[in-house]
Amino acid sequence: MKKEQTYDLIVVGAGPAGMTAGIFGARSGLETLLIDKGICGGLSNEATVVDNFPGFKSIGGMELVEKIKEQTAQYAAIKELEEVKKIEPTGKEEQMMRLVTEQGLYLTRAVILCTGTEKRKLGVKGEYEFLGRGVSYCATCDGFFFKNKSVLVVGGGDSAVRGALYLKHLGCEVTLIHRRDKLRAEQFLQRSLEKVGVRILWNSVVREIKGDNAVRSVVRYDKERDSEDEFAIDGIFIYIGEEPAHGLAMQIGVKLDKNGYIITDKSQRTNVAQVYAAGDITGGVKQIVVACAEGAIAAISAHEDLTS
Ligand code: NAP
Repeated sequence: MKKEQTYDLIVVGAGPAGMTAGIFGARSGLETLLIDKGICGGLSNEATVVDNFPGFKSIGGMELVEKIKEQTAQYAAIKELEEVKKIEPTGKEEQMMRLVTEQGLYLTRAVILCTGTEKRKLGVKGEYEFLGRGVSYCATCDGFFFKNKSVLVVGGGDSAVRGALYLKHLGCEVTLIHRRDKLRAEQFLQRSLEKVGVRILWNSVVREIKGDNAVRSVVRYDKERDSEDEFAIDGIFIYIGEEPAHGLAMQIGVKLDKNGYIITDKSQRTNVAQVYAAGDITGGVKQIVVACAEGAIAAISAHEDLTS
């Protein structure tokens, strides 16, 4: 049987919010562990460039993550590639919770949920079938394979525009497709897109992704013309937003808003005692700087509750 390891504070998810919570929790004297099902940094690893994090004029997402991780590891324990499958009250001692992973069992007095979000799927024919064979959700991870090739980027937000810019700079022939006639990406990014000359298909959606052993074309529906056409592409990068990863929160009765994000008060406390949330899982402004701030507040609240 697996031996239980005991901590004061366990942070689930080691993105910028989780890592900052780790720094603040451990430095306040709490025995702190961070657990992530992937690697530290989460979606921030995919950010080609971060140019709105104070202190860095411009820094790659991975580089920023590496710096925060190094700082976190000075204080807190970190376990990567270990997925928390279950959280439950122990029933033995009041407010003690048990976390179950495939590798171990952990007891803790407080939990900060920093589980973030998952990529939203288009839900069209061919999307799942051609995943990894022309369908991608990450330009920084897969863009290299499409150098000098023709790619379609789906979406109108910051991620889509950043993805399109990255692919353009790699030397891809980039077309952006958006379901409306206006982008929601920040103005600065929109101007950059114009400058590099990315073609935009407005008021259009992807109806189907087609191919043989790899993606060859997409079927586009033009909403204004009410007509369909098909054109050749080598790759499609989908950036249509995110869904909250709230599975663990639901297991312990944490309240969610109508969009599935965790509801917290200003101190990042949830409705469940000694359970806090920080970062993208709380919805609102999804920026690294905000995630870090929420992580810090959550850890300070946990310290207050555990020591008062
Ligand atoms: P987002 O801002 O939610 O944008 C998603 C885009 O996809 C929207 O343009 C949306 O269209 C479109 N869309 C949604 N569902 C669709 C569907 N089924 N079919 C076609 N199009 C669909 O998501 P995001 O760009 O991933 O950004 C997420 C958050 O992270 C945002 O808060 C963003 O500001 C932040 N972020 C910031 C940066 C940065 O550099 N500062 C970089 C990346 C992300 P509509 O516009 O019509 O709704």
